Amino acid sequence: MLKIGCHLSSSKGFLAMANTAETINGNTFQFFTRNPRGGKAKDLDLKDVVAFRSRAEELGIGPIVAHAPYTLNACGAEERVREFALEAMADDLARMEYIPGNYYNFHPGSHVGQGTEKGIELIADTLNRVLRPEQKTIVLLETMAGKGSEVGRNFEELREILDRVKLSDHMGICLDTCHVWDGGYDIAGHLDEVITEFDRVIGLDRLKAVHLNDSQNPLGARKDRHARIGEGRIGAEALARVVKHPALRHLPFELETPNELDGYGREIAFFRSLE
Ligand code: FE
Ligand code: FE
Ligand code: ZN
Repeated sequence: MLKIGCHLSSSKGFLAMANTAETINGNTFQFFTRNPRGGKAKDLDLKDVVAFRSRAEELGIGPIVAHAPYTLNACGAEERVREFALEAMADDLARMEYIPGNYYNFHPGSHVGQGTEKGIELIADTLNRVLRPEQKTIVLLETMAGKGSEVGRNFEELREILDRVKLSDHMGICLDTCHVWDGGYDIAGHLDEVITEFDRVIGLDRLKAVHLNDSQNPLGARKDRHARIGEGRIGAEALARVVKHPALRHLPFELETPNELDGYGREIAFFRSLE
């Protein structure tokens, strides 16, 4: 069965997210590990975690995707920016162990003028300091749109990061359809070629999750403005082909479209109607 869900607010805890996912026919979801603008995470509520784990099993929910705050920059130019990234990731990953077997996704970062190579080095260095051999969470690098000085705007840059990570068994990739489109990969016109390219450069076995978004901008725009499914330049038909593709259809799909819950529900229903 198709694994699809959407980004949900984590403010009421894990059990509430599972129950919300159920109301829109979702069997996975994504959430921010802490305020997306950074700051401290709330203490983990163990009762909530226990209740969530049994509810998720009952509903067939999972794997789920935790998303690091998007202000986290593992390759910032300032030491304190990189230190925050390191501490937040280490803390998030420690808490993820209470819900083992899920994914932790993060934006590789922006090199802010230091150059892509330096950025890649700093990101890998951070990962080498936070990954633990015994961890039960797979850390995902998200494919980026390439706005500003973002690292991870093409498959080669992501591959270079993976190559430098020692415990790379704990690493994977999350493919964001809006981002790769904005980065110049024509998933609407040439999906098979893009998937073949991903496999050649990174390896399809590394692909663990998909962010399912339309894009407000044309191919290669490097903008990163998500659109609702069918209201952007990729289009509903092309995104339906993504979801049904034999190389992808087993993955969890997370909608990050500009929607309220009912809108997400309609998009999930649309993709489920394709089965
Ligand atoms: Fe993201
Ligand atoms: Fe995304
Ligand atoms: Zn985005």
